[in-house]
Amino acid sequence: MAPRMQFICQSPACRRQVEIEIPAGGGTGQGSNLLCACGSKMKKVYAKPVLRELSKAECILRFGDLIRNSVDSWTLHVARRKLKQIAR
Ligand SMILES: [Zn+2]
Repeated sequence: MAPRMQFICQSPACRRQVEIEIPAGGGTGQGSNLLCACGSKMKKVYAKPVLRELSKAECILRFGDLIRNSVDSWTLHVARRKLKQIAR
């Protein structure tokens, strides 16, 4: 799948968002002059990483599950150590 880039309309009244496919090996030159249907310029949206920070409770729950379900001793060892670090 070709990488995609999101653009957002710079008009505060519009804020339309579009997703554009970036051609393989191609630059994003075309995208820089992109115009919205309303006539305003569109700007690239830099995607934020989708990483979500786990709360301490969630971490403990996760690692607890891991420990209960782990079959190999190494995973068990690592999970236990992590759990200790988190719970501190
Ligand atoms: Zn617009």
